[in-house]
Amino acid sequence: MNKLVVLVVEDDTPIRNLITTTLQAHDYNYLTAPNGKAAILEATSHNPDVIFLDLGLPDIDGVEIIKKIRSWSNIPIIVISARSEDADKIEALDAGADDYLTKPFSVEELLARLRVTQRRLAAMQNELTSQSVFVNGNLRVDYAAGCAYLGNTELHLTPIEYKLLCILSKNVGKVLTHTFITEKIWGSSWDNDIASLRVFMATLRKKLESKPDSPQYIQTHIGVGYRMIKME
Ligand code: CA
Repeated sequence: MNKLVVLVVEDDTPIRNLITTTLQAHDYNYLTAPNGKAAILEATSHNPDVIFLDLGLPDIDGVEIIKKIRSWSNIPIIVISARSEDADKIEALDAGADDYLTKPFSVEELLARLRVTQRRLAAMQNELTSQSVFVNGNLRVDYAAGCAYLGNTELHLTPIEYKLLCILSKNVGKVLTHTFITEKIWGSSWDNDIASLRVFMATLRKKLESKPDSPQYIQTHIGVGYRMIKME
């Protein structure tokens, strides 16, 4: 099983070190961010599996960070905060946090929350891989066979166009950033990759969309990325 990557967002250095030392001792990988801006950058560019998020950060309020991340990702977010009022917990959960840990917390408590999240992620993964055919409007992607169809016509896609279609369809309804997509395709995210992504997106749209200039399936979010629209 792959090691889980946890993004630790915490401005308090001793607490951040306590968390990362604990993660390391239990064989998890981690990334760190000391403020909200760094947190959003890390989350978009490295696509961690879980986020531990302190609510009281120097630049952006944690609840705002949850809302931002939720606009494009379902990644599990566990809030770790000194705020113990129920109203604060509810606000964070309403914004899309998955779980809540109040400071001071024990290392055992932290690990227990992480295990719960890990089990949920594994269950989600199983569900995803068991759905081997994706259907959206006239589009059908048969992941097991590696083919895509529009109505009854098979789409003749290049390997990269097919990969791009799979990434978008597996995240249907979500905005995926350029960085996220290029890392999935090429394992990197240079300016050149983003320029190439535009080219492959144009060729994919020519095959997929009846009017490539006013696309029905794949929406462009200028300066951000792309989203596959969920058809009614
Ligand atoms: Ca703090």
